[in-house]
Amino acid sequence: MEKETQSNRLVLFPCPLQGHISPMLQLGSFLHSKGFSITVIHTQFNSPNPSNHLDFTFFPIQDGLTSEEISSGNLVAILLAINANCKVSFRQRLAQVKEQEPENKITCVIHDDLMYFTKAVAKDLNIPNIMLRTTSVTNFLARTAVLQLRSKGHIPFPDSQSLSPVPGFHPLRLKDLPTTNFDTFEKYSELVVNACDVRTASAIVWNTTDCLEQSSLAQIQQQCPVPMFSIGPFHKIEAAASSSLLEVDTSCIAWLDKQSNSSVIYVSLGSVASISEKELTEMAWGLANGKQPFLWVIRPGSVSGSDGIEQLPQGFIEAIGERGYIVKWAPQREVLSHRAVGGFWSHCGWNSTLESLSEGIPMICLPSFGDQKVHSRYVSQVWKVGLHLDNELERGEIERAVRKLMVDADGEVMRVRAKDLKEKIEVSLRNGGSSYKFLNKLVELIMSL
Ligand code: UDP
Repeated sequence: MEKETQSNRLVLFPCPLQGHISPMLQLGSFLHSKGFSITVIHTQFNSPNPSNHLDFTFFPIQDGLTSEEISSGNLVAILLAINANCKVSFRQRLAQVKEQEPENKITCVIHDDLMYFTKAVAKDLNIPNIMLRTTSVTNFLARTAVLQLRSKGHIPFPDSQSLSPVPGFHPLRLKDLPTTNFDTFEKYSELVVNACDVRTASAIVWNTTDCLEQSSLAQIQQQCPVPMFSIGPFHKIEAAASSSLLEVDTSCIAWLDKQSNSSVIYVSLGSVASISEKELTEMAWGLANGKQPFLWVIRPGSVSGSDGIEQLPQGFIEAIGERGYIVKWAPQREVLSHRAVGGFWSHCGWNSTLESLSEGIPMICLPSFGDQKVHSRYVSQVWKVGLHLDNELERGEIERAVRKLMVDADGEVMRVRAKDLKEKIEVSLRNGGSSYKFLNKLVELIMSL
């Protein structure tokens, strides 16, 4: 197989957000291990670091984003702008790659589903395209439910209905649907509808696995006319290099080494979610009063209007002493696989959720927007490996949640279930498992294009 794939080049186009870049490059690493040459065409905004992937070729293209658009933090507007701006520069670059190495044929373009402008360009140049979906299948189905409910006038819904069940979507409630506060519904809908269009796709690749999402996968397979491959969790397929956009502070590993087994709660809200200064204060005192060791990622910009760390309440650092460790960005996968980590307080982005489940770590869920709300509900109600912080963030509630997860019998039950899921995920990746089989089928399909 490896010999045959040598002269085949795959062009990847990631969506320029941390949670999308990592799985795309992880998929690239796997396909490279199968002998494909990998070219990554990417926006200047949030460009990946080529020195982490010396086997790949990287080409940035003009994305036309203004500094105002970038600093707005309005993800829907940024993604729509990229789709509107990049068609010409992507076409030029793709045509160039095609012409420069005629002996190294471009077998296909693999693009993030949110980078839908790439489909028409690939079609124009007679290159097949494969769509990568970096969220869960369940979230994808929930997005479709949002559009349907909106068309029937059920969204927006009054606060009094926020706990009402979503019809046909147990256990989601209206408040768990992946809506976003970033923009108007029309803009959100434009993005979702375009990302859903699979008419030109040769295949769809999902970063998920059957043992987590069997019924959602069965449902989507019925609806979708295109072959689908659930081959995740990607970070477990191939030892891929870090694709962090921020500098990773590895000093926390030496601190973890000093802690006892399963005693530490790791706290991170991912690369986009933010909290208010008041919420930061409540989190800080909740963690301090929980009396468990903790490793806390406070990303620059994650506390509205400040750098974050300097907004920590007075007396907090003195109160925690050696019991807490704070970094701006952690080597998360390494942290979650460290023997000292026993719980993850997460925003429930899909990568973080998969990374936690793959290590058998139970969670405290604090979703902020979009798919995080769906995953949080699944962690607590379907896989039953975590607690959902449902109410306004308050130090007493946080302290109770930390102790429940890390010390109480309830947390132990969740830990046992999480370990069981970890086993199932490992089985799916081994020879004969579902992800393993789909990985081989995906390589066969790419070779047949
Ligand atoms: N991450 C990391 N270090 C941190 C925080 C996060 O490496 O300190 C990584 C994490 O491992 C995950 C990604 O950033 O792969 C975040 O993706 P996710 O889908 O969980 O959330 P998003 O950032 O898209 O909201």
